[in-house]
Amino acid sequence: MKTMTPIRLILYVSLFLVLVDNVSFFTNVIKTYYPIGADNILPLLSIVVMLTLFIALLFTLVSSRYTTKPLLIAILLISSLANYFMNTYQVVIDDSMIQNIVETNVDESMELFDVKMLLYLLLLGIVPSYLVYKTPLLYGTWRSALLQRLKAVVILVLLIVIIFFSFSRFYTSFFREHKPLRFYTNPTYYIYSLGKYIGNTFHIQEELKPLGRDATVGDASSARKKLLIVVVGEAARADRFALNGYKRATNPLLEKEEGVVNLSNLYSCGTSTGISVPCMFSIYDKDDFSVKKGRSIENVLDVLQHTGAVDLLWRDNNFNSKGVADRITYENYKSAANNPMCDSIECRDEGMLVGLKGYIDERPEKDVVIVLHQMGNHGPAYYKRYPKSFETFTPVCQTNQLEECSQEEISNAYDNAIIYTDYFLSQTIALLKQYEAARETAMIYMSDHGESLGENGLYLHGLPYFMAPDTQTHIAGLLWFGKEHPKKEYVAARRDDALSHDNLFHTILGVMDVNTSVYDAALDMTHP
Ligand SMILES: [Zn+2]
Repeated sequence: MKTMTPIRLILYVSLFLVLVDNVSFFTNVIKTYYPIGADNILPLLSIVVMLTLFIALLFTLVSSRYTTKPLLIAILLISSLANYFMNTYQVVIDDSMIQNIVETNVDESMELFDVKMLLYLLLLGIVPSYLVYKTPLLYGTWRSALLQRLKAVVILVLLIVIIFFSFSRFYTSFFREHKPLRFYTNPTYYIYSLGKYIGNTFHIQEELKPLGRDATVGDASSARKKLLIVVVGEAARADRFALNGYKRATNPLLEKEEGVVNLSNLYSCGTSTGISVPCMFSIYDKDDFSVKKGRSIENVLDVLQHTGAVDLLWRDNNFNSKGVADRITYENYKSAANNPMCDSIECRDEGMLVGLKGYIDERPEKDVVIVLHQMGNHGPAYYKRYPKSFETFTPVCQTNQLEECSQEEISNAYDNAIIYTDYFLSQTIALLKQYEAARETAMIYMSDHGESLGENGLYLHGLPYFMAPDTQTHIAGLLWFGKEHPKKEYVAARRDDALSHDNLFHTILGVMDVNTSVYDAALDMTHP
């Protein structure tokens, strides 16, 4: 291999990243800039040069005898995978996506693993990394190396400034109007997002702020104790529920169930589990919420705990509670040690209901709130989300490579998983019905976010909220109240109201009849 200066190697790698790993970025730039004419070829070419110089500048700033090669190799490897995910699923790697990746466990990553991903990693990651590793670098003395770096930084900055001013109108108007485009740049955007994620994560160690320490439960003379089950769904979008008018019979059991109040106009707080789940239980509304803020203060389950009158249980068949259940009893139902309904594919949501009767019966003098966190419609392997007997629509997409399946096969698998959720919810209601006489019973079901199923080439979820399609934010949700529940008459009128995750915090307090200064009746769906 030819010996070269570190700066030259950095420039080569930067150009490689821009030309090879930014397919998604340039596809989106061209789409936004369509039609391409003679007038805009030059500005578009300038983006290639500009991005290369900018990436090279970043690398140069942190390069040194010991860091240049490891850094370039790490970026090449990660960028090949980022490129794969962005091309395959049309996702962007922002801080909430990084949170997802960090919190993902082995089961979940195995589901995303496939041959095409390995090819990206090998050809666009490992091969160029090997070349970088083998290239002998010319450093000279530390003084000349430092001078060389300084010179490179000055030249790169100058070039960037010159190009910027040569196309200043293009850069100021185009990129101001199309801010989301920068989300697709590789590796710059994921490096920025990683910094943001680390900033958020390492700030949460500050002391937890108390919330609703004044909470008490209302007039105890109303004899019957309360029993509320909150079901947190996974990736169930509103338009795939027959209750919302979907043409397929995806709610065969709930449609027959008396007392179900379907919420037809319900929107999520985030587009990913990591944001939506903590936001749902947080006092902050969507516009105020951030993961960092959510973690810094107690949530509605803590407020219930402060009453001293409510026993709380969280059962999780998803991946975890995202910190929401950190201070209450938590049981992992993805493990066969707890979940008695695990088959060769996975542990089923239904298993979370087993033994709940015993838990409730042991607490005749207490109000009880149980949260069940479903695996639901977790993608991309929708076909794994239901037992074979629920396979109503066929043929189904049998791979996690969604773009290899037809739209119909994806829909079939996804809809079958909705039918299984329909069954799970009706079983939950059946359990509550056993307590209708003894307790005030209620169920609240809300999905955490929606899902893209190939519309406009989009799959899965997690796009930044303002650019996410309705399919990712308009979610399935419903309420069920038992006989003679005092709130029952008010909720039926809410079915088509504009509601969101913001309502959950106050609705739970309302249903449990909790008096506290942090309760806002205006956001309680059950308030007359
Ligand atoms: Zn989710």
